[in-house]
Amino acid sequence: MKETIQTAEILCVGTELLLGDIVNTNAAYLSRRLAELGICVYHQSVVGDSPERLTDALALALSRADLVITSGGLGPTYDDLTRETVAAAFGLPLELDGAVLEDIRTYFTRMGRVMTDNNSRQAMVPRGARVLKNDQGTAPGLIVTDETRSKTVVLLPGPPRELEPMFDTRVVPYLRERTDCVLFSLNVHIFGMGESTVESHLHDLMTEGKNPTVAPYCKAGEVRLRVTAQAENEEAAREMCQQALAHIMESEVGAHVYAVVPSSEGEATLEGVLIRELCHRGRTVATAESCTGGLIAKRLTDISGSSAAVKGGFVTYTNEMKTNLLGVSPDTLEKYTEYSEQVAAEMARGARLATGADIAVSTTGIAGPGGGTEDCPVGTVFIGISTEAGERTVRLNLSPQRSRDYVRTLAASHALSLARHALLAL
Ligand code: ATP
Ligand code: MG
Repeated sequence: MKETIQTAEILCVGTELLLGDIVNTNAAYLSRRLAELGICVYHQSVVGDSPERLTDALALALSRADLVITSGGLGPTYDDLTRETVAAAFGLPLELDGAVLEDIRTYFTRMGRVMTDNNSRQAMVPRGARVLKNDQGTAPGLIVTDETRSKTVVLLPGPPRELEPMFDTRVVPYLRERTDCVLFSLNVHIFGMGESTVESHLHDLMTEGKNPTVAPYCKAGEVRLRVTAQAENEEAAREMCQQALAHIMESEVGAHVYAVVPSSEGEATLEGVLIRELCHRGRTVATAESCTGGLIAKRLTDISGSSAAVKGGFVTYTNEMKTNLLGVSPDTLEKYTEYSEQVAAEMARGARLATGADIAVSTTGIAGPGGGTEDCPVGTVFIGISTEAGERTVRLNLSPQRSRDYVRTLAASHALSLARHALLAL
């Protein structure tokens, strides 16, 4: 009978990680994917390109986990020592694998490059190891198993563009066969309610040790709940997630949920959801931006297919441009200043009329760090929304302590969220 894998440890190899020259995205990636498989990760570690320290780190990792996944050090150069070190730790000789050598040769031919001698080192395989083909590079991954100790080491190349597809296409199926449960997760995206408020409404769902688990993650003013159920099969796990989701939607949090996606499909964004819903309804949007300087238009046009829904946008930084391009009345500017709901409303209206879009959004405010006044401290942003039903404005009071980047990102997110609500009301 095959042993099941319950715990894993991630061991990243590379002196440049220790020096802080590169960020350890591989550890984050692997941890996330292992969690989806229901495999617990209790430790991650990083070790430099030193065979002694790698040997020690590997022994420690194998003493406390069923599975150790290494990243890095599979390349052809002298400092790439993972293959040799793991083989030695398992007492396995390295043998030249003809098929792997052929794959490496083919790769070089395809890339129109000359294969150097040291590349053949990458065709050395610990006896009995399973070889994982590398579709994006030369170094194959390896799975080395010690049946008597029920320990497995998976060796993956360092470059994320090689590691990620190799893990997804070759390691995940291997691990699925060795886990006795299935996990299914939903990402529930929330905007307009803070993490602690979300938690206070969903306290019952968010206590430890529950199945499904509901875990909150925060990012730039948004909260994402990850609902994960563990069950014998995917259908049962999906059903459990749906029940937890129904509970979330019935609570006060429900009104702030803007997307629910299975985590296997990734994460949603406010702009992605807005574009999708605009396209679905055959509607269009335009932007008139002051303090966000084009960020809303940028985020909207980041989405592929946005050309069907985005009419265009204005970046009107000076009052003169607000008047010339958007028709904001000089009297309004004079009377209320550019930091006002009145100006936000006229900007949005002007953009809608100039473009013929169904919805226009505008921003005007103080991103900081300088420029705040008593009435309008840094972080004050006015958002305008214009539709055929008229104009609506919102004043945001974001914390003056936050960075310029944060204020602009959050202002853009609020504008996108308000545009979506305006669309739903059309
Ligand atoms: P190569 O054949 O490219 O040498 P390798 O398997 O030997 O691959 P390393 O030499 O350790 O891998 O790393 C190669 C590159 O991969 C690094 O320079 C870095 O850009 C990236 N990399 C390595 N480890 C990580 C990591 N943990 N997180 C993110 N990127 C990484
Ligand atoms: Mg290398």
